Amino acid sequence: MAKSKKYARVGRECVACGSCLKACPRGAVRIVSGVIARVDQEICVGCGKCARLCPADVITMVERGDEK
Ligand code: SF4
Ligand code: SF4
Repeated sequence: MAKSKKYARVGRECVACGSCLKACPRGAVRIVSGVIARVDQEICVGCGKCARLCPADVITMVERGDEK
């Protein structure tokens, strides 16, 4: 799978439901301290699957190098 120019960023309103973690084909997501999902930018290929499935709608697809 080719890496897209974007990666997934999780907002603070994440409810740690784990849907994105299960959906990610790359295993790029982990739940930190049981409270928030985090995406490893290096592993994420920017497919957007997690963002489409997030029930809280807190995942944004962000351009690489444009994250600040
Ligand atoms: S699917 Fe959304 S709410 Fe659920 S863990 Fe992932 S980012 Fe958080
Ligand atoms: S955009 Fe795709 S590869 Fe990246 S974290 Fe979401 S599901 Fe995984």
